[in-house]
Amino acid sequence: MINLTYADGIFFYVLLCLATIAILWARELWRNRAYSWESSSRRVLNCPGCHVSFIAPDNANVTRCPRCNSICFYRKR
Ligand SMILES: [Zn+2]
Repeated sequence: MINLTYADGIFFYVLLCLATIAILWARELWRNRAYSWESSSRRVLNCPGCHVSFIAPDNANVTRCPRCNSICFYRKR
């Protein structure tokens, strides 16, 4: 029979809880990386005139708004 003291039982219980949390955390990191959204080389631009957001083609820094046809610039932050 296995002789466990009260302290050993608590130690293994805490160890099991920490291992479970570590496994779930690693799984969540993997899921975030596997299912994350990514917009390849397209950019989301926001029109300052009519406040509509739209996706600009490829690497365009300047394009026209599809709604009001004003010129929109892509500003790097
Ligand atoms: Zn616009």
